[in-house]
Amino acid sequence: MVILFPEIDSTEALAREAVEWVRDNLSDKGEIFVGFSGGKDSIVTAEIMRRSGIPFRLFYSATGIDPPPVVRFIRREYPDCVFLRPTRSFWKNLAVNVPPSDRLRWCCTAIKKAPAWKMPHAHRVMGIRAEESPRRKAYGRVNHFVNAETDHWQYYPIFRWKEWNLWEFISEANLSYPSVYDDGFDRVGCVICPYHSEPSGRLHAMYRDRWPGFFRLWEKEISKLWRKRQSAGKKMYHKTPGEFLAAWYRNQSARWYAEAPTPKKKIGQTTFDEIQ
Ligand code: SF4
Repeated sequence: MVILFPEIDSTEALAREAVEWVRDNLSDKGEIFVGFSGGKDSIVTAEIMRRSGIPFRLFYSATGIDPPPVVRFIRREYPDCVFLRPTRSFWKNLAVNVPPSDRLRWCCTAIKKAPAWKMPHAHRVMGIRAEESPRRKAYGRVNHFVNAETDHWQYYPIFRWKEWNLWEFISEANLSYPSVYDDGFDRVGCVICPYHSEPSGRLHAMYRDRWPGFFRLWEKEISKLWRKRQSAGKKMYHKTPGEFLAAWYRNQSARWYAEAPTPKKKIGQTTFDEIQ
C-alpha cells in the first residue's frame, strides 16, 4: 500500500504530527517498548512519547562497547531506562565467531537485537528515519516484525524527520544530548564497528584516539582468534593478524578465511509488512 504523507515543513509541525500519530496508533496498546540508544533520534523519540501521554518504557541494549560518555549520559538523564544485556558479551561472542563485517554483522543480532526480542512487548517504537538509508526508507512507518524469537509491531514516529529537524527540536525543547556529538562524532553507537571501516581508515583512527583501550583489547582478541583458527588448520586470507587488522580498518568486507564466505545464515523468518 502506498503511504501518503501530508507535506509538513517545520520541525514544530513535524513534532505535532508525530505526537498525534503516536496517540492515533498506540493509545490502546498498553505499555509501549521504546528502543533507546542515547543518540539524537532516540532523544527526540522519547520526548515525542512523553508529550503523547501514552505509557511507555525506554529500553537500551547495552553492548559493552558503546562510548562510555553515552552510557553515563543515559544513566544520568534517563534513570528509568532499562538496560538490556546480552547472554554473552561482545568479546565472548567474538572468541567463538569471526570478526564482524558488513556481510556478517552477528554482533547486531547477538548483543543488540536478541536481548530486546526477549521482552514481551508487542508494540515497539523506534527512532528509525527514512533519511538514514534506502533500506530503511523502504520499511514504511509501521511494520510487523516476526522471526523465531519475536513477534511484534514496530512504529516509527519520526520517520520523515531530517537530521536538522532533530537538532532544531533538541535545541528548542532544551533537551540534553551526549557530549560526544560536540566532540565531532556524528553517531553514538559502538566504538569498534565494521561500519567505521573506509578506505582512509580515518573514522577508526578517530575512535582509537578517543578510546584506545577498546582498540587494544580488540587487536589482542583478534590476534588470539586468528592464531587459534590457524592452528586449528583453517586457511586464513591474510598472512598475519596485523595484516588482517590493517585491511579491516579500511574495508567493511575484509576477508578472514581464504575460502569464500558462505551465504548469511538466517535466524528464523523476518518479514516487514507495511500496513499503512
Ligand atoms: S559493532 Fe556495529 S555492527 Fe556490531 S553491534 Fe555495534 S553497531 Fe552493530
